Amino acid sequence: MLHRDTLDRPLRNLRISVTDRCNLRCQYCMPEEDYVWLPREDLLRFEEISNLVDVFGELGVDKLRLTGGEPLLRRDLPRLVRLLAAKPGVRDLAITTNGVLLAEQARALHEAGLHRVTVSLDTLRPERFKALTRRDTHARVLEGIQEVRRLGWKGLKLDSVVVRGTNDDELLDLIEYGKRTGAEVRFIEYMDVGGATLWSMDKVVSRTEILARLEGRYGKIEPVIEESTAPADRFALPDGVIFGIISSTTAPFCLSCDRSRLTADGMWYLCLYAKAGTDLRGPLRRGASRDELASLILPAWQRRADRGAEERLALAKRSPLVQVGDLRKDPHLEMHTRGG
Ligand code: SAM
Ligand code: SF4
Ligand code: SF4
Repeated sequence: MLHRDTLDRPLRNLRISVTDRCNLRCQYCMPEEDYVWLPREDLLRFEEISNLVDVFGELGVDKLRLTGGEPLLRRDLPRLVRLLAAKPGVRDLAITTNGVLLAEQARALHEAGLHRVTVSLDTLRPERFKALTRRDTHARVLEGIQEVRRLGWKGLKLDSVVVRGTNDDELLDLIEYGKRTGAEVRFIEYMDVGGATLWSMDKVVSRTEILARLEGRYGKIEPVIEESTAPADRFALPDGVIFGIISSTTAPFCLSCDRSRLTADGMWYLCLYAKAGTDLRGPLRRGASRDELASLILPAWQRRADRGAEERLALAKRSPLVQVGDLRKDPHLEMHTRGG
């Protein structure tokens, strides 16, 4: 049975962050060099994550996505994948990664039961990658993508955050790269989430503009009509190639949002923009039973009224959601802690 929130959205989809650390410093997510990291002893062990997933599973969650920080930095991740993939209630298990460590881990992850991956890829130009992420590992990301192809993973998506003046001249190149690699490309509007302290509205390239630019090159683009709670709206180019746009900033989709987020230290958030979450690690470590944990989760979901991105859209004047000083005081406000 599906449990619904105040806006009739079912509890079904959980993003699990396995670490807040990252081996890149993307300017739109972690523009600082150093951060206040979660204490290591607070990170949920794999068995703890697995136990929480069982509780969520009993409440209807059957879609899981591993994320971070950079999830491939978490040691022995295939062991967690194996634990989760073995659960009969898990219908969909996927991962979002920056791809830097993917070439070396793709086989073990695949064998452990992971078949769907989204790789974040904002640029095809190594120098630009270096400027955007402050690391010189572009070639390794492309190798990771090729390795996933070679191993024949079922689902490969490439997510690109489009930032005006940074990579918005690469829309066509990214689509063409997606065609060559058999991956579905998804353009993400730059969001003013925690961590995005350099955000400003003039750097956002809207879905309307992305579509207009692609139509200028490819001709008529048709929307793909489908019943879905996925964040991306999908479109077809005249040659049938499908791509997506995640328009969280200019046309948010909160009314169909069934996602909640578990941080690496066991805080549960009902929205990417939520200021407060529910601590599940404390009760779990104090020995709470499954029913007790469920009694923390279910009423919180039933009270859920979050529409963070829509509320941001309604503001007359927008600036970054959280200032650097506040992020330092509470790393839970960071996008890289929430898992994006
Ligand atoms: N490190 C992994 C990666 O980059 O794929 C997983 C975590 S990352 C926080 C998840 C997603 O959030 C990435 O696709 C990233 O591009 C996206 N993201 C981060 N900051 C963003 C922002 N300000 N606006 C839009 N998307 C953002
Ligand atoms: Fe970039 Fe992902 Fe790391 Fe954020 S968490 S800095 S988006 S790689
Ligand atoms: Fe869901 Fe919050 Fe994002 Fe809206 S802003 S789509 S409610 S996570």
